[in-house]
Amino acid sequence: MDSDNGGILEGCIFCDRKRMEREGIVYEDGLCFAIINKYPASKAHLLVISKAHYEDLLSTDDKILDRCFEVAKMLSARIKERMRPTGIKMIVNMDGEEELAHMHIHLIPVYNRREPRLDISYKKRRKITEKERKELLVKLASAKPEGKRERA
Ligand SMILES: [Zn+2]
Repeated sequence: MDSDNGGILEGCIFCDRKRMEREGIVYEDGLCFAIINKYPASKAHLLVISKAHYEDLLSTDDKILDRCFEVAKMLSARIKERMRPTGIKMIVNMDGEEELAHMHIHLIPVYNRREPRLDISYKKRRKITEKERKELLVKLASAKPEGKRERA
């Protein structure tokens, strides 16, 4: 399949379904999914990713883009409610700035408003532990908050 027509690209990390499942899928629908970032810039740093391979935002189908942003909004509300950050940064790379050329949206919670500047440089990040990943999955993967039951 073509590398940028909404198919699956061999060798692309985000197109690798098994790998994505190992990262911990927080949300999924027909068009996009969200995972816990393996090297988070802050706790509960999520990535919203289109299921189909588009190299960047400019080349992504509008319908898919709309859905990705809707999911980013929904998950931001979930992060705010359950993680209590002071704010959330959303970062989208327009084009090949990043090594990973597959359209994705970063949701990076900020826990201290007074932090002079959120440092998102990749080199300084620590890999998430299995324990942290599992805790975040419990906290964020369900549409319902932990321990709360849906009302009839
Ligand atoms: Zn891809």
